[in-house]
Amino acid sequence: MTPQVRCYDCAEAYEIDDRKRCTCGEPLWFDTNPIGMGWPDDEWTAGMWRYVDTLPVSDPVGIPPGTTPLVRADRLDEYVGCTLYLKNEAQNPTGSFKDRGTAVGVSYAAQTGHEWVGTVSHGNMALSTSAYAASAGLECAVFVPVDTPPERLELINRHDPHVFRVKGDYGRLYAETLILETDVMFVNSDTPLRVAGQKTVAYEILEQLHPAEPDALVLPVSSGGQASAVWKAVRELECAGLIDDVPRLYFVQAAACDPIAMAYREDKAVVMPVSADETIAISIANSDPPSGTRALEAARDTGGAVISVPDDETRDAMAHLSTKAGTSVEPSSAVSLAGVRHLSSSGHIKADDDVVTILTGSGYKERYGAEINVRSIDLDDLEQELRSVVGR
Ligand SMILES: *Cc1c(COP(=O)(O)O)cnc(C)c1O
Ligand SMILES: [Zn+2]
Repeated sequence: MTPQVRCYDCAEAYEIDDRKRCTCGEPLWFDTNPIGMGWPDDEWTAGMWRYVDTLPVSDPVGIPPGTTPLVRADRLDEYVGCTLYLKNEAQNPTGSFKDRGTAVGVSYAAQTGHEWVGTVSHGNMALSTSAYAASAGLECAVFVPVDTPPERLELINRHDPHVFRVKGDYGRLYAETLILETDVMFVNSDTPLRVAGQKTVAYEILEQLHPAEPDALVLPVSSGGQASAVWKAVRELECAGLIDDVPRLYFVQAAACDPIAMAYREDKAVVMPVSADETIAISIANSDPPSGTRALEAARDTGGAVISVPDDETRDAMAHLSTKAGTSVEPSSAVSLAGVRHLSSSGHIKADDDVVTILTGSGYKERYGAEINVRSIDLDDLEQELRSVVGR
């Protein structure tokens, strides 16, 4: 494919290595021609590489991300008020959807002779980038905010990257890494290579449901990278004639940090930075989202919306996923389930809608301070103790 990137907004095109932002200030993505694109007939290409023909990658590195399960969650239908499907991106190699974009970014870096990759992250992307860099034998520079929890740093360190804890504004840090003049190739949240990889989650969802089609996709949004990727993917599938109708795209933020939802509520044309409060959804706490305006456009273009939910509803959604769907996600991922519930009660989502929510990140990586409910018993009392809970 032609390594050209284009601005979604003003349509200006550039050579891929020149830049990551358009002169108009908006983010770029790969220029693709979906005409003639088909569902891959190769059953056995590992993971997301079944779509490798649509990606700027010749030699994939690392453990293949993707082909994650899409499951019906009928025991949650009543809670969310629609027919619910879960796309479990927590089953990717490092526990989040970030692996898809990372795998493309790191593979591209390796095949173009780079020795260093880098990223700016609250945790998941740092973990993912460090892991794929390790598998490709590349050095990795990781910039995290000072308040990144130590358990996340420990996970990241296992892959032996160079970690920098940075004091100062996250939005500025993000923007500055994209224009640094060093040998490090940055694969940040919304850079073109990452967006290219992350499109594959939407290809998979639509292919897994085919010939049925979902009415809506609901996902958490922070930088807007994944939201942009899903938008691009569904428009490509429509253009290729592989789907009849583009699903409505709904994006969900934490109420304490919701710049994109605020712009949507206030009917603004562009997303402006906000001053954020604390939230348990730390992986999506970006008060100055680099692809915020692009995500806003994606929601409007598809007839969706951008909303935000308070932390207590996120906790409740997390608990429902654990006790009714048998899986655990991090708070930043549970916001989307809380969001589906909101969208049903506000009438955006109807009772007979088929809705897919993307579980973006695993809850099995860290503790969230919940009460630990166990009983301590004597071995001699085994039967009596068990009987007291079983009832007979
Ligand atoms: C990164 C991340 C998001 C947000 O994705 P963006 O592409 O930055 O909008 C959502 N959930 C989890 C678990 C993440 O790690
Ligand atoms: Zn532009």
